[in-house]
Amino acid sequence: MSTLCTTLVTASCLLPSAGASPMYEASIAIADGTILDIGPSSRIMQEYHTENHIDLGQALLLPGLVNTHTHAAMTLFRGLADDLPLMQWLSEHIWPKEAKLTAHAAEVGAMLAFAEMIAGGITQFCDMYLFEERVARAADTVGIRAVLGEGLFLAPNPSYTAIEEGLAKAEALLSQYANNDRVTGAVMPHAIYTTSPELLESCRDMAAQYHTNIYIHAAETAQETAMCLETHGKRPIAYLNDLGLLTPHTVLVHCVDVTSEEIELLAERGVCVSHNPKSNLKLASGVAPIPAMLESGIPVGLGTDGAASNNKLDLFSEMNVCALLHKGVGADPTVTRATQVLDMATRAGAACLGQSTSGCLEKGNAADIIALDLSQPNLVPMTNPTSHAVYAADAGNVRFTMINGKVLYFDGSFTTMDYPLLLREVEELQASM
Ligand SMILES: [Zn+2]
Repeated sequence: MSTLCTTLVTASCLLPSAGASPMYEASIAIADGTILDIGPSSRIMQEYHTENHIDLGQALLLPGLVNTHTHAAMTLFRGLADDLPLMQWLSEHIWPKEAKLTAHAAEVGAMLAFAEMIAGGITQFCDMYLFEERVARAADTVGIRAVLGEGLFLAPNPSYTAIEEGLAKAEALLSQYANNDRVTGAVMPHAIYTTSPELLESCRDMAAQYHTNIYIHAAETAQETAMCLETHGKRPIAYLNDLGLLTPHTVLVHCVDVTSEEIELLAERGVCVSHNPKSNLKLASGVAPIPAMLESGIPVGLGTDGAASNNKLDLFSEMNVCALLHKGVGADPTVTRATQVLDMATRAGAACLGQSTSGCLEKGNAADIIALDLSQPNLVPMTNPTSHAVYAADAGNVRFTMINGKVLYFDGSFTTMDYPLLLREVEELQASM
């Protein structure tokens, strides 16, 4: 007798996870947001039935991609200022615009980011920005998987005046989403140079109290290291270590300016790293020593960073740049192999976000599934799915995105977003900002 399931998804090819063997003519049975079974269509069709069978034909099913670092609402600042150093870019262009940000604008900008990410195969993201209560509400409504935290720093900003208010907002988010299986809160101090030791200690204690992760920009540039040495007499990694912030519940974003001894320490402490190669390249921050980090066993995820410094939220592009960049810099074509890079964008990324049931397609995991259209010329012929995902595909090849068993995007249409309305709202904001 066959088992009733909510949805069946079928395609000509399926890669369950980075490094796994591909399956051909394969299907996934889904019940209530979870993968019930996965295997050859001939078996799955016999063992399961549903009224909702989605046959994608010539398509490659992959685990949904995980964006371990972004500032979603910064889509509103896309293309605003390019070709500048980080500090000048921030102080002359981004911060003045951010000073005028409203809760409504943050929500609209975040929605635009969700549309871009969902259409590009990103099923899960980590967001550090302002007015995160609105971003969380929007993420919950749209159906994307998210880890969110109010960006915490000492300077007054449009979301809060005193840091105590910022901490209260961060804590409110943690409490409100404590029992949500898709949208969760985390603690996100912005960076060493925008916070104090006392603030970082408060963040550390709040994260411990709520059993959640800390995310912080760290060791992004040599300039940051120099500032840290001047102010605190230590390099960024030593400074964070002395404050008790280097634990398996900390994700350091960037880690460009780190020594081999510091890499060893990060590995020892089980710290995770979010690698944002395109943002680092665009701001000429340097190149993070990712091959050494992978070698030492540090969990490394991929991130897009905000759209203002990228300028797109496209993990296919990020995977491609990551795979190529470290080969070029290290003069070694065998590093950042396609399998490793796909793992960074899926399973390892999910692990960085504290998620063990997403990032690979297997029984019992969340049904976060994407499909690439294999009839597109840049994906023909289908030789190696991993190679295609990292070296040949782009976000425009995504034709199907399912999160938690729910189809959010199919053949150019969003099922949970009014995209034409969103475009009008973005246009109105553009005129007023
Ligand atoms: Zn960032």
